[in-house]
Amino acid sequence: MRISVIGCGYLGAVHAASMASLGHDVVGIDVDADKVARLAAGTAPFYEPGLPELLAEVGSTGRLRFSTDMADAAGAQVHFLCVGTPQKHGEFRADLSYVDAAFTALLPHVAPGDVVAGKSTVPVGTAEALASRLTPTGAALVWNPEFLREGFAVKDTLHPDRLVYGLPTDDEGNPTPAGEAAHALLDAVYATPLAEGTPLVTTDYATAQLVKVAANSFLATKISFINAMAELCEATGADVTSLADAIGYDARIGRRFLNAGLGFGGGCLPKDIRAFMARAGELGVDQALSFLREVDSINMRRRVRMVDLAREVCAGSIVGRRVAVLGAAFKPDSDDVRDSPALSVAAQMQLQGAHVTVTDPQAVENARAKWPDLKYAATALEAAQDADVVLLATEWAEYRELDPAELGAVVARRTIVDGRNVLDPRAWRAAGFTYRALGRP
Ligand code: NAD
Repeated sequence: MRISVIGCGYLGAVHAASMASLGHDVVGIDVDADKVARLAAGTAPFYEPGLPELLAEVGSTGRLRFSTDMADAAGAQVHFLCVGTPQKHGEFRADLSYVDAAFTALLPHVAPGDVVAGKSTVPVGTAEALASRLTPTGAALVWNPEFLREGFAVKDTLHPDRLVYGLPTDDEGNPTPAGEAAHALLDAVYATPLAEGTPLVTTDYATAQLVKVAANSFLATKISFINAMAELCEATGADVTSLADAIGYDARIGRRFLNAGLGFGGGCLPKDIRAFMARAGELGVDQALSFLREVDSINMRRRVRMVDLAREVCAGSIVGRRVAVLGAAFKPDSDDVRDSPALSVAAQMQLQGAHVTVTDPQAVENARAKWPDLKYAATALEAAQDADVVLLATEWAEYRELDPAELGAVVARRTIVDGRNVLDPRAWRAAGFTYRALGRP
């Protein structure tokens, strides 16, 4: 099947390469000429495990092309819309200008019977508005939200937990004939994962758009719940990691996403819960999501707490102290620094007078572009040279596995703050470190 993928960022580039590896003939289109050139040369423009291998695998088949020209979308039967929907400056709402621009540019190139499949995360109501503009072309709109996780994007795209199709429906909620035809086309696109037994939920536009933000709100709530418990643990001398283990054994609760620490960040959860609150307000049901305001505040408080903890271990002042921050990406196995808790802590400490050196296995270049005034180092040992305190801010495997003796040999003072609760306190204390963590005694 011929497919176009509009927007080749973290979502679209992986989607385009994955669709080609499933046997489709794919063109990826992006306004960023540099990104397109790199992808066309078979190079991943960002760090995502498995993507370079996938690009190499499909590169030789001739089934994957990249272009900056929207006219190259013509001839594809399914067009995936994968552009960004960031938070609007100064507002909680999503900025839909990229969706609007991409959709407007695509419209002249769609043919009757084509499907435009929206994958970007959008406020509920967006699909309905786009569909009314698409109908005169004879093409159909489907909302097909994406659930991939950065760091696992290739696996999540090729073997998703579930697929969701939001189809055009009639007054009784049944798919229209155009909806049925679109359903069949998407089934052909996803034939391989469907044959593997991937669950498929077919529904209406509103539900499909809500599924994505509901899922992200639930995940954000779960993280903030355990971080709220961490605040209680800090006030009582309890240990949030044991608490999480103990409640996580209850299958109704589950241990995953119950890791207390510096909280969530990235290009999705924070902006998605804020856009969801803003949309609820527009719909007159803001009270329904008032808890998300608390979820957001608990999350942001963790960053402040991390800085406070660093100050505590520096005898009350970080002015003039040398601080090593391990991690710049918002999560391990990614180079994405959008709303990164690690960088937010690093920047706050620098503003408060500390000498901060940041390191990350993959995200230093992105971090430097965003925070050029911070100092950067290539490795943890280099960053920790003569440090008064080391902060573990992103739980990359290589930081989890750090040898306390090796790190202890380069620092000025053996003090570590574990912002992700991934180090063994006994091992670090045995090596002479003052070990502090969020939510642990
Ligand atoms: P991104 O910023 O990495 O990528 C967006 C891409 O769209 C950029 O390359 C940009 O140049 C391109 N673009 C912008 N305007 C364009 C236009 N008019 N025509 C063509 N291309 C255009 O963002 P992302 O992380 O890939 O996210 C994209 C969407 O997917 C967002 O709505 C996001 O919420 C959602 N999403 C992201 C993830 C994730 O883990 N990154 C997961 C699920 C859903």
